[in-house]
Amino acid sequence: MSVLDLARAEIRAMQPYSSARMEASGGQIFLNANESAWAPTGEAGHGCNRYPEPQPAALVKMLAELYGVRHEQLLMGRGSDEAIDLLVRAFCRAGQDAILIQPPTFGMYAVCARIQNAAVIEAALAADFSLDVDALLAAMTPAVKLVFICTPNNPSGQTVPRASIERLAEALAGRAVLVVDEAYIEFTDEGSVSDLIDRYEHLAVLRTLSKAWALAGARIGCLLANAEVITLLRKIIPPYPLPLPCVNAALAAFSPAGKASAGEHLRVVREQRQWMSAALRALPGVREVLPSQTNFLAVRFDQADQVYQRLLAAGIVVRDVRRYPQLADALRITIGTAEENARVLQVLQGEAA
Ligand SMILES: *Cc1c(COP(=O)(O)O)cnc(C)c1O
Repeated sequence: MSVLDLARAEIRAMQPYSSARMEASGGQIFLNANESAWAPTGEAGHGCNRYPEPQPAALVKMLAELYGVRHEQLLMGRGSDEAIDLLVRAFCRAGQDAILIQPPTFGMYAVCARIQNAAVIEAALAADFSLDVDALLAAMTPAVKLVFICTPNNPSGQTVPRASIERLAEALAGRAVLVVDEAYIEFTDEGSVSDLIDRYEHLAVLRTLSKAWALAGARIGCLLANAEVITLLRKIIPPYPLPLPCVNAALAAFSPAGKASAGEHLRVVREQRQWMSAALRALPGVREVLPSQTNFLAVRFDQADQVYQRLLAAGIVVRDVRRYPQLADALRITIGTAEENARVLQVLQGEAA
């Protein structure tokens, strides 16, 4: 059995759109894509009269190296959000198939499933927000084609041990694709599970440049998976998902100066995370600061609503996560600069006074 047997048969059978850019090879004068022959006005538009490379080779090379996979095991899209959407559309038949998630978790898995009219099956995280592998496997049905694991989890902040992921991968072989979302993995003490892709053809890993690489505005994320899965998804991804200015921004972020700056900011976030956790825990009105391996803290308050309004009145916007199960008294606070974090504390201390 191949992992592709889990995919929608009509997607496996379809002929993808073949763009001008894909069909072209060689040449100096390009009259094949109905582009303008003239560059647009303005520095920012340099090169933008031409369609971009579907999967820019220079960036594929850098990201494959960074993530430790082969080129054919990587697909870049408009954020990892697009990869989630492509997975759901390729593997879930509308009205028949399902995804399995562990709430409270990232909202896009369920949103993408609903757009595709795939069912969303939920197996809650344990009370301490750890992944309950047995509960998850007990919730499996033959309709489930994708199992989403978020590590570290958004919005609760903890990682899933590698051993649990391996156990799940073993148990799901031939049954479902295991999708491990590592959007915040750079902030943790643990490594990626992308090295397991060669072992498990049904394992897919999501990575993004939006968090640790400071490129949320460029919308670049990756799916790392078996080459056959990547080839399947390339059939349904729009022909030119990566705008040229975004690709250039990413290439600049991977320059030696860019890497040094990203490394320094990672260090600051981890240091500030520890400092903020301790400072918040000491405040009256704070019930709990959940342990976090990310660039945010989930914090339980006696009166989360009032705290939210108080911060907002001071111009500070945090995320109200009270609609999530098990987090009905919590706000999610991203780690900012040292000055921004100090300002949050100052406003909260004012409240206590
Ligand atoms: C932010 C986030 C993403 C989305 O990343 P993009 O690459 O910006 O689309 C994916 N998963 C989780 C858990 C996130 O928090």
